Amino acid sequence: MGRIKVAVSGAFGRMGREVCRAVLNEESLELVGAFDLQGEDEDIGEILRKKPLGIKIEKLSKESLKKVQPDVMVDFTTPMSVIDNIELALQCGVRPVVGTTGITQVDLSRIGRWVDASGLSAIIAPNFALGAVLMMKFVSIAARYFPQAEIIELHHDQKIDAPSGTALKTANIIIECREEDPPERDELIKLSGARGAVQDKVHIHSIRLSGLVAHQEVIFGGTGQTLTIRHDSIDRQSFMPGVIFAVKKAASLQGLVYGLENLMDW
Ligand code: NAP
Repeated sequence: MGRIKVAVSGAFGRMGREVCRAVLNEESLELVGAFDLQGEDEDIGEILRKKPLGIKIEKLSKESLKKVQPDVMVDFTTPMSVIDNIELALQCGVRPVVGTTGITQVDLSRIGRWVDASGLSAIIAPNFALGAVLMMKFVSIAARYFPQAEIIELHHDQKIDAPSGTALKTANIIIECREEDPPERDELIKLSGARGAVQDKVHIHSIRLSGLVAHQEVIFGGTGQTLTIRHDSIDRQSFMPGVIFAVKKAASLQGLVYGLENLMDW
């Protein structure tokens, strides 16, 4: 089998540049196109501070996509653009691998119909860090045995939402997987918020500090013991093994896959 041809939309952005770098470092993949609204006509090699590669940033369109004919298009753009980008890719016979966040359930249903009609595949993953996906899997196992659990999520001080999407998803996993509710107890709260936010008896504590990137710790409590499961994303490179894994899978898949956990062998 030949190399998988990959184009990146959002190639001028923070994640897109990292994806271009990761694709260039992977022998079985070939970077064939780079799309963005910014940096038009700039050579992606020079943007990455390497030698020119002859791949210029272009606006994403039917024409630009058909010209480079990728097998897979990785998208790290914005919630406003991503749905149109996915539709365009599928119309052009290209399989989308999407990391852009903010895709709703309603969007997913529409995308699912487009994917089925195209006979191709699409992979959408709100968290490409393999460690974060594994953390949630381990949490689903531990929650069956430890009804008491609290989540501490720690992020850089530029993050505007709290708690993080991953913390909310982790709380839902705990709620779904625990076999009994944690015991009720009265608490004397002397300062509002001292026990964090609570979703169905799972407490979530959000910390925002400069110097942090993206971290999460889940502490389970049981008789005479605690179990702590922790994941740390140190920088954006942490997402790249998951992106490359998805690109390779997409080339041989059919249908829509939402969440990297649904591609992994458990
Ligand atoms: P960013 O630096 O702002 O990059 C996004 C780039 O995409 C910008 O240059 C933007 O141009 C461009 N763009 C917008 N619409 C486009 C279109 N239609 N076609 C081509 N390019 C377009 O953002 P980022 O930090 O890289 O993050 C990108 C997305 O990835 C966000 O949704 C973020 O939440 C998500 N993310 C996901 C994961 C994961 O694991 N799934 C991890 C990290 C981040 P303009 O500036 O002109 O809009």
